[in-house]
Amino acid sequence: MDLGTTAVHAGLPDADQGAPFLPGPTFAGTYHFRGDPDPSAYTYGRTGNPTWTRLEDALGELEGGETVVFSSGMAAMTALLSCAGADGGSVVLPSDGYHGIRTFVEEDLRRSGIEVRMIPTRAEWGDEVLEGVRLVCLETPSNPALDVCDVRAITARAHDHGALVAVDNTTATPVGQRPLDLGADFSVASDTKGLTGHDDLVLGHVACRDPEWAERVRARRSLTGAVPGPMEAWLAHRSLATLDVRHERQCANAARTARLLVKRGDVTGVRYPGLESDPAHRIASQQMRRYGSVVSFELSTQDAAERFLASSRLIAEATSFGGVHSTAERRARWRGDDVGPGFIRLNVGCEVASDLEEDILGALDAVRG
Ligand SMILES: *Cc1c(COP(=O)(O)O)cnc(C)c1O
Repeated sequence: MDLGTTAVHAGLPDADQGAPFLPGPTFAGTYHFRGDPDPSAYTYGRTGNPTWTRLEDALGELEGGETVVFSSGMAAMTALLSCAGADGGSVVLPSDGYHGIRTFVEEDLRRSGIEVRMIPTRAEWGDEVLEGVRLVCLETPSNPALDVCDVRAITARAHDHGALVAVDNTTATPVGQRPLDLGADFSVASDTKGLTGHDDLVLGHVACRDPEWAERVRARRSLTGAVPGPMEAWLAHRSLATLDVRHERQCANAARTARLLVKRGDVTGVRYPGLESDPAHRIASQQMRRYGSVVSFELSTQDAAERFLASSRLIAEATSFGGVHSTAERRARWRGDDVGPGFIRLNVGCEVASDLEEDILGALDAVRG
């Protein structure tokens, strides 16, 4: 069955006369529960909730592995990093990856004595990088520069060195790329972005094929209390039915936008893994189903970028990406990423392509004055 069809039906209960397709959220701090502890029962709201279970089943179908949902992408990633850190051994992280993870690693992991090696996503690694490593974290395509690394090749080498591999799959979503099928041990994501796609909630998950690891990560969630609210979990599940449709439209719009931008003399450094001329294209085409909704590019100065953002009528100036509404920001305003002052990360939404095209061309012309 195609993944797009799976997304429409994922995690729904069997048809039951008079019952809704997707039962509503279960709001519970505690549950009626008699007798001796039973690990399969719902007993307390921090350790289990049927609305999470349904979403986890759905995401499990999309990822091809057992899934644990978290209150945010950061909660999911830091749960995995702390479990791996507790095993001893070093951690490898992308030096150009999500800034929040890099900050956590600096302020938490390193201080607690765990050795962390930072490697750019597009670097060629020597074997010395993998000596003594417990966990390799990849982010592909990376946020915000959209570099890509070869998940199959890196995973094979990491496994030879006894290391586990986690892919931050936020920018791709499981309908764009399936890290577990590529051999990775974990697929981790912020579901705040394209997976839920409506810019209305914060959520994350970890997926893996080893039931013992799923149990460890779930136990970490219970202990740290990094649990999603039932309403967020339900909204996320509801939005999965349209995930593939949204993604298809957004990726087509993004590809068209990237092709439009490369033709402009006033735009440089256009990055989109779906462009045949992009340095990431060859590997991306071997491991991705679609190339994502994010396009990055540069205008000549901070002022030009600000004028572009102010002149567009359809693209909202906002951080984050993946939603149905087109959004963009001048990334250097946050100072966390190594990008130029005119660098823009554009999330292409579900608007009609010709309207977007007209809007973007109009905003670029307004910059030139
Ligand atoms: C947003 C993001 C995160 C963090 O997720 P939150 O849901 O904001 O906690 C992690 N990795 C990547 C690549 C992201 O874009």
